[in-house]
Parts: sequence; structure tokens; C-alpha cells
Amino acid sequence: MIDFTISPGHGGSDPGATGPTGLKEKDVNLKIALKVGNLLKNQGLNINYTRTTDMRYSENLSADLSARARFANDSKARYFLSIHNNSASNPTATGTETYALAPGGEGEKLARAIQESLVAAIKLPNRGVKFANFAVLRETAMPAALVEVCFINNPKEEALLRDEVFLDKVAIAIAQGVMKFLGRQWKTQGTPILGPASATIAQAQEWARQNKAPQEFVDLAPLYWQIAPARAGVDPAVAYVQFAHETGYLYRDGKSMAGIDANWKNPCGLKVSQGGGNTDPNAHKKFVSWEEGITAHIDHLAIYAGAPGYPRADTPDPRHFPYIAGRATTVEELGGKWAPSPAYGEKLVSMLKALQETTVSEPIPEPKKRAIKLKIEGDCQIRYDEKAQELIITV
Ligand code: ZN
Repeated sequence: MIDFTISPGHGGSDPGATGPTGLKEKDVNLKIALKVGNLLKNQGLNINYTRTTDMRYSENLSADLSARARFANDSKARYFLSIHNNSASNPTATGTETYALAPGGEGEKLARAIQESLVAAIKLPNRGVKFANFAVLRETAMPAALVEVCFINNPKEEALLRDEVFLDKVAIAIAQGVMKFLGRQWKTQGTPILGPASATIAQAQEWARQNKAPQEFVDLAPLYWQIAPARAGVDPAVAYVQFAHETGYLYRDGKSMAGIDANWKNPCGLKVSQGGGNTDPNAHKKFVSWEEGITAHIDHLAIYAGAPGYPRADTPDPRHFPYIAGRATTVEELGGKWAPSPAYGEKLVSMLKALQETTVSEPIPEPKKRAIKLKIEGDCQIRYDEKAQELIITV
């Protein structure tokens, strides 16, 4: 059972529209379509594509379109989605629109869900849901929608379409719109950065001690558990293991990194706004207090994770750039983004698992000592037997 047939518009000898610097619509459409398909597969949907390469079914346009519709019909897909980018003679034409065949059906609902999600994510002008008698909408047997992401002939929007970060954002938004239309919850793959604390302060401190972290590092755990949830909804355990990784457990082995030590109060290698070399201490931000440094760390993670309210104006994060917003919602996705290594995220995840699995032995409470009065009436002898350590009362 195919849930969605995804059809990347144009292909082969039909480039679709071409941008002012030569970007071809057919190539962008294919990239977005494959990204959307992969995301939806990860959400558990069955997907097929009318094309996954640079091809067309026929040199005749209407025969090509009919073949795409037939492909979806033959595969008995439940829904059909065509992906395009727009073009107009006016180079300032801008915005997003999504088409359905006619008002009132499932096709319109699908189009509306995609349009809403896409506009909210990429924030280009909302041109709305429109209706058109397009062949792929008309000849498909199932509810169908066609999205025009933005205007490839507009130099600014063509530049966006060359940007992988933008294309990822587009694909996520379309896929999330589809899931919303289906009434299915969007599942985050991997280890979320945002969320309640996934471990306790006591576990974090025990984990730090087991890793021979200096006392200063152990003592900073409560500050993470205080700042991360309240300020940004960041899981403090994620931030704390990143602190350990970025500073080598606060320079546990006695070595500072390139002249940077605990005096920098910089828990995650944050650089100054203008950046600089990894080994240049002056390229790294020196914070006045741990509270400030940890707040900057949390804000930097929160903007990556696309936390609500981020980017924010009141931040000590020197590199709080809007373009990183929402680039990594999971710890795994930080790889290749926060740090160049693609394995960076996996490293943090393994540290996080170890922290979460740390058991904290509850100290056995000492029996409470309290003084009581002993009143003995009548004649008696009291002696203490040293050997037996007993107090003997003979009446
Ligand atoms: Zn097109």
C-alpha cells in the first residue's frame, strides 16, 4: 500500500523554469521531493516517486503529465503530491502557493495543511491555496496537491533554493504538513535536544565523579538543571554532557585547550561573534561568570533546536545567528553542524546514555539520636557490662 506518490515536477529535456543564475527548477524539485520522501519514510509512510532521476516519461508534455498520473493510479497510492517552483515575468514575484483541483475535497485539505506548514516555516509571502485544472491533479484518481515552494526567477528566492539548509527546512515543513493532514503525530527521530530533564542532578554528578571530573565541574550540574529547563526547555543532561565533551571534563587532564581553561567560564567552545581559529584563545569568548557562560551555552543549543522564542534578543550567546535556527532538533543532527565531525552527535549520545544509566546509591540514613529520660522506681542496681556492651538494670 503506497501512502503517497511524490512527483518532482519536470525532468529530462524539460527543465521547468530557470533562475537568473541558471538554477533549473527540475533539479530543485527533485532534491526537495527526495528529502520529503525520506522524511515521510522515517515517519512510517510508504512512498514512491514518479521519478528519482533526471528523466521525463515523454517528450510530449501532456503525455508526460498523464504518465505521471497513471503511475500514481497504477500504484494505487492513497494520495499524490507534486512538487514545483514558481516563475513569473516579474523578477520581484515572491511567495508560496499550493494547488488543489477543486474546493471542498480531501485535495484541498491536503493543500491547506502543506501551505500552512510551509508558510510558517519559510516565512515567504502566503499566496494561499488555489484551484487549477492541472493534468496531474485532474487525472490522478486520489486526492492530490501541487506545491509551488517559491519563485525561482526571483534572484533572492533562487539563492534560497541553492541553499541546502533552506531546502531541508522546506522538506521538513512539507512532510510535517502531510503528517498533520493525515492526523498523525510527527515523531522526532533520534535524541531530542528539547524536552524535560532526562536524568537527575544526582546522576549527573555521580557520572561526572566516575569520569574523574574536577569538583568545579561536578558543582556546576545544578546550574544546568536550573537554567536549561526554565530558560529554553532544553534537556539539561544533553547540555551537561556537551559541556563535558567540549571542555574535556573541564580540563580534567590538567591541560587547557589552546590556552583556554576554566577561567574562560566557556562551557562549550563558543567563539566571539567574528569567529577565528580553533587554537586562538582570543577567538573564544570569555564569560564573566559561569551563570553567563552556561546561559550562552543553553541559548546556543536552543537556537539550533528551534526552541520557541528563539532567536532571542536578551542573550549572552555571541553567535546567536538567525540562520542556525532549527538546524538540529536532535543531538545526532548536531554532527556536521555544531562541530565539523558527522560523528559528533553520536559521541554526545553515547555520553548521554552513560549519564542516564548512572545509578545513584541512596546514602543509608543514620539512625536519629535522641535523648530519653529513664525513670526507675524502687531499689535497683545499674551496671555496665564492658564486654557485652550492655547496660544491666537489676531490680
Ligand atoms: Zn514547474
